[in-house]
Amino acid sequence: MKTVHVSTGKPYDIHIERGIIDRAGECAKALSKAQKVTLITDTNIAPHYQWRVLNSLSAQGFETKTHIFHAGEESKHLGTIAEIYKTLADFHMTRRDIIIALGGGVCGDMAGFAAASYLRGIDFIQIPTSLLAQVDSSVGGKTGVDLPQGKNLVGAFHQPLAVLIDPDTLNTLPDKFITDGMGEIIKYGCIKDAAFFEFLEKENALRHLEDVIETCVSIKRDVVSRDEKEAGERMLLNFGHTLGHAIEKLYHFTGITHGMAVAIGMVMITRAGEAKGLTAPGTADRIAALCERYLLPTSDDFTAKALAEAAMGDKKSANGAVNLVLLKEIGESYTYPVALEELEDFIGE
Ligand code: MG
Repeated sequence: MKTVHVSTGKPYDIHIERGIIDRAGECAKALSKAQKVTLITDTNIAPHYQWRVLNSLSAQGFETKTHIFHAGEESKHLGTIAEIYKTLADFHMTRRDIIIALGGGVCGDMAGFAAASYLRGIDFIQIPTSLLAQVDSSVGGKTGVDLPQGKNLVGAFHQPLAVLIDPDTLNTLPDKFITDGMGEIIKYGCIKDAAFFEFLEKENALRHLEDVIETCVSIKRDVVSRDEKEAGERMLLNFGHTLGHAIEKLYHFTGITHGMAVAIGMVMITRAGEAKGLTAPGTADRIAALCERYLLPTSDDFTAKALAEAAMGDKKSANGAVNLVLLKEIGESYTYPVALEELEDFIGE
């Protein structure tokens, strides 16, 4: 088992181990005095894994309840949260009881938000089952839900009691979800770790998933521990995301995954950086080649105007400027503020 310790305000461990899903009960027992556990999962994941988690919880004497919501981003709204609250209240969950989030990013975000707000906050354990959630959204304590006006507009920072990552859960995923995670994995190499980027260039990441997950989670842990509330360094994690979010928006969030959009965003912003002399020449080509190797797209036909307009709605914009994340070279990143009215010109062409 690999363990990554996270020392945020409330410290916790991320355990990475094949088959750890069957030890969820043991882990919960070691960390909590709960009597009851509500397992929150979705219709894709429940048939594969809910009984394994429930059996391990029952074996440790926990009383359990399962809440299953319809899989997909369309479920990520306050109506689903209200249904989760009803399950928790009807099951008479108290402040000492815990939630387990079993699923991808949508599940972790919503179950985490329910845990952050029910009875003003109860503990929860994350069992992320998608590659994207394992390397990215399960670290950092961000929880939340979409509003009709935009994604993740309501939420809270709430650190889990523990994160249990079982790489075997990836075996049941369709390929596009693996590709989705690869976008964020390549991002970590770009922003912080040239040696890891070279490893991804030389090896097949999918054959070394435990190591790859450990590296990504450790990088994110380091960044988040230094900047829990996203005031500075944490912005580097948004590399490729300003344009990536704009692209997702222009696609109306269908037909393109987050990781695909981030891949395009990373390549585009790095090309723009090179054109302005802010990034070492050849960097964008290297990122593009690596993305293509993992079947990620690297360009799109949207105009700079359309991208800039879509990006301006981004909630991360502040004071009439957007903080772009640029690379000096592979492995070294920095933020670069650009006035909103100059964004279109910066993206270029
Ligand atoms: Mg992301």
